Amino acid sequence: MMIRKCGRRVFVMPVLILLACIIVSSPPVSAEVVTRLALPGRIVALTFDACETKTPSYFDESILSYLLREKIPFTVFVGGKFARRNKVRLAELAGYDFVEIENHSMNHELHMERLNDTEIMREVKDNEGLIQDIIKRTPHYFRFPGGNFDARSLRVVEDLGYEVVHWSFAAGDDNRDLTPEELTLWVLSKTKPGSILIFHINGRGYATGRALPGIVDALRKKHFTFVNLTHALAK
Ligand SMILES: [Zn+2]
Repeated sequence: MMIRKCGRRVFVMPVLILLACIIVSSPPVSAEVVTRLALPGRIVALTFDACETKTPSYFDESILSYLLREKIPFTVFVGGKFARRNKVRLAELAGYDFVEIENHSMNHELHMERLNDTEIMREVKDNEGLIQDIIKRTPHYFRFPGGNFDARSLRVVEDLGYEVVHWSFAAGDDNRDLTPEELTLWVLSKTKPGSILIFHINGRGYATGRALPGIVDALRKKHFTFVNLTHALAK
């Protein structure tokens, strides 16, 4: 009796181990939208939306020159119209190893969850092709315009190989009434280890250029380190 039991165990155990290996090595069926960094520690990611909607938009040079001068790692989510209009500057940015340029859709449809699968794919792939042409690199992260998505649209984007990255809290820098002091206080009160910060670098972050140096200094004094998404998100 004992021997038969043992024999069955001998057969069952390898099967269980094999199953466990398959489960561990398989990618998740559907990840979720990333709103925090995966790595532990006092790290924070600076991300910027660079999209154009109604009026021509350009890089906010007060933000850009500061970040480049200080060599602060940051990520720009670029929309298609903005990319076309700012090709030269984008190509220059690709030369900095601490700057990430990622995908924010071709046409900035505010509700991509209302598009069909083919239209969603086109929004992602058309902009991917455009970005690749300009920076000679393939984007890996995607941000939905307006942060709007549902399970289906998320799955379609993930099936194209993207990880969707949003933000930990809204900075609200697209509010014209927000002063640099208010923006600074708000961001510093909300930032925690692992936070993904979001601002606008397309001229619609009205107080951002003036607030950012103070925000960065204050976070550094609190021993935060700025990181790129590729270094801080476990794939
Ligand atoms: Zn946007």
